[in-house]
Amino acid sequence: MSATIIDGKEVAARVRAEVARDVAEFRERTGHTPGLATILVGDDPASAVYVANKRKACAEAGITDHHHHLPADATQGDIAAAIEECNHDPDVSGILLQLPVPAGLNGKELTALIEADKDVDGLTHVSAGRLMQGAPGLRPCTPLGVIELLDSYSVPLEGAEAVVVGRSDLVGKPVAFLLLERNATVTMCHSRTRDLAGVCSRADVLVAAIGRAEMIGGDYVKPGAAVIDVGINRTERGLKGDVQFEAAAERAGLITPVPGGVGPMTIAMLLRNTVTAASLAYS
Ligand code: NAP
Repeated sequence: MSATIIDGKEVAARVRAEVARDVAEFRERTGHTPGLATILVGDDPASAVYVANKRKACAEAGITDHHHHLPADATQGDIAAAIEECNHDPDVSGILLQLPVPAGLNGKELTALIEADKDVDGLTHVSAGRLMQGAPGLRPCTPLGVIELLDSYSVPLEGAEAVVVGRSDLVGKPVAFLLLERNATVTMCHSRTRDLAGVCSRADVLVAAIGRAEMIGGDYVKPGAAVIDVGINRTERGLKGDVQFEAAAERAGLITPVPGGVGPMTIAMLLRNTVTAASLAYS
């Protein structure tokens, strides 16, 4: 293996320590404490674990926890009311509606109700529009984590050929726009892309956000490229990324492992977004 392994755990720990310092400094300066409202609907065990992890991380960083747990039979109106309450609560800096919401509810419609300056997941239409137009705003957490990893390892982005595989609103599109904002030359690939291997093999920076275990082979990787694997796939052989790690690491200059690469960054960037949102409210 020739590639340097990008240590997401280490970078995430550094970001979380920075956030804790920023929270203390913010409290000192403004007399207010940043607060995150997590809204969980129903009893899906995976969602409950994700929310618990986010709340624990908040507490560790000194961010106040405002948790709303609504029953599985909550209506669209009930959840909308909880979001509105958080929108108007000056102690709530950021709002996170845990997705997916139970069947029969419209998660996209509910997400859109979150005040853009409290949209710490960066998923509302307003946040997406701000990102597309290069206006200040809150950006989605996992894509921010991708950029933070690249910056932490001093990967040059300006003028670089960047290829993003996947075009979801959650990961692929925002990663592409963040790379574009940094003056990379960005190509977005998806399920209808012709000659995916050929396109990927031109990339100085290759980001895989597909959700298909080990789809990206070593031959997709340009020698020396930075490879960021966002994929998390549960397989019989354990947790796997979208990239064939061993084969890709033979050619890449830098590569993220799964787990321990992008994964730990998402919560770290959520915490940072919460402090950014607090600063928007009390600047
Ligand atoms: P998604 O909404 O399912 O989007 C997947 C994208 O991959 C789509 O744009 C799809 O193209 C594309 N795709 C599917 N098959 C393809 C193929 N054969 N060739 C090229 N492109 C293909 O998934 P997502 O929410 O973006 O998540 C992607 C992965 O990241 C998942 O494994 C997810 O678990 C992981 N993830 C990780 C984190 C983290 O914290 N690390 C956070 C979020 C997501 P079309 O648009 O043409 O269908």
